[in-house]
Amino acid sequence: MASPEAQSSNLTHLACSICEATHDANIPQTICSECGRALVARYDLDLAAATLNLESVRGRVPSLWRYREVLPALQASAAVSLGEGLTPLDRAPRLGAYMSLPNLYIKDEGGNPTGSFKARGIVAAIAKAVELGITDIGMPTAGNAGAATAAYAARAGLKAHVAMPSDTPRTIIDETRAYGADVTLVDGLISDAGKLIALGGAQNGWFEMATLKEPYRLEGKKTMGYELWEQFEGELPDVIFYPTGGGTGLIGMWKAFDELEEMGLWSGTRPRMVAVQSEGCAPIVRAFDAGEQRAEAWEDAATIAPGIRVPSPFADDLILSALDESEGTAIAVPDAEIADAIPEITKMEGIDACPEGAATLAGLRRALDKGLVGADERIVLFNTGSGLKHPELRPA
Ligand SMILES: *Cc1c(COP(=O)(O)O)cnc(C)c1O
Repeated sequence: MASPEAQSSNLTHLACSICEATHDANIPQTICSECGRALVARYDLDLAAATLNLESVRGRVPSLWRYREVLPALQASAAVSLGEGLTPLDRAPRLGAYMSLPNLYIKDEGGNPTGSFKARGIVAAIAKAVELGITDIGMPTAGNAGAATAAYAARAGLKAHVAMPSDTPRTIIDETRAYGADVTLVDGLISDAGKLIALGGAQNGWFEMATLKEPYRLEGKKTMGYELWEQFEGELPDVIFYPTGGGTGLIGMWKAFDELEEMGLWSGTRPRMVAVQSEGCAPIVRAFDAGEQRAEAWEDAATIAPGIRVPSPFADDLILSALDESEGTAIAVPDAEIADAIPEITKMEGIDACPEGAATLAGLRRALDKGLVGADERIVLFNTGSGLKHPELRPA
C-alpha cells in the first residue's frame, strides 16, 4: 500500500465553471478573474484511470485520501489529515421496514472529525493552502465549517479567522474557539459573516475560504460521490436526498459522477439529486419551482438546521443545473417536520441525527407523497453531522 505522500496529484489546472477560462493551480486562487464565478479543479483523468479502480482503492488508507488520483495537494494531506471520510453507508432496516422502503440507506457523516462532513472539504482546502504557503484563513460560516477550519488549521499550524452568526448553537461556537480560532460572532446570518471576512481578508491578507469561492473544498466534498460508488460495489443509488445550504456536497457528488463516467469506471442512469431545504430558508426550492437558473436571496432566513440556513448560496447556478441534469427536484420542509424526524432516525437506527440530516427524512416523506420516489428504489439520505452538536434540540 503506497502512502499518499509517495504520489503526486493528477491535478492539472482550474477552470471556471461558467466561462471555462483556465487558471493556474500553482498559485492561490479564489473565484474566476474573468467572470467572478466558481472555479473547479481539473485532473488528467487518463492518468488517474490507470490506477484508480474498485480493487485498488480497497487496499488503501481508510479515509477520503484513498481517492488520491482525483484529489489535490497529496503531500500536504499526509500531515494535515485527521482520518476524514469513508463514513458508513448504513442500510436502515427498521426505518426502511416502517416506511415500506426495502432499499433505504443512510450515509452517516456524524463520525467525521469535528462531527460533520465539513471536515471533507476543509481538509482538502487546508492541505492545498499549506502547499501554497498560505498562513491565515478567513472563514465565514453557519457553524460547522468554522469548527472544521479551526481544527485543521490547528493541525496544520495556520491561523483561522472565523465569523459566524451569534445564534449558532453554543456547542459549535465553543468547539471552534477550543481549537484556537479567532472567532467573531455576527448579529446576522452567514451572508453578514461573509462581508466581515471579506473586509478582514482585504485588510489583513487572510485567504478566504467561503463556500465555492475557494475551489478545493468542493474536491474534498466530492468524495461522498466516490464513496457511494465504492460502497454500492461500483454502482450508484437511484435517488439521493441532500440537505442543501451552499450546495458543495451536491455539486461535488455530481462532479464525482462526471469523473467516474469519464474514467470509464461507471456508466448508467445517474442518481436523481434531491435538494432538501427548510421552509424558513428555501432559495433553491423557490428558484427550482419557478424554473429559474439563478436563485434570489431569501429574506429573514430562519430554521433550526443551521447548516442549511444559507439565504444566498454563491453557486446557486451549479446547484440548479445539477438538479436539472439529474432529473431531480428540490423540496422544502417545515421545521416541525425536521424536529419530528430527528428522534425517528435516532431511535429507530441508533444514528444520532443532526437537524439537517433529519430534514432529508422529512423531504423523503414529501417526495413519496408526491409519487416522486418508487418504493423499491435505492434511496440514500445524508445525515451530514452528529446530533451531539445540538443539545438544544434534545427532548426535554
Ligand atoms: C454545511 C452543512 C450542510 C449543507 O452543506 P452544503 O454542501 O454546503 O450544501 C448540511 N448539513 C450540515 C450539518 C452542514 O454543516
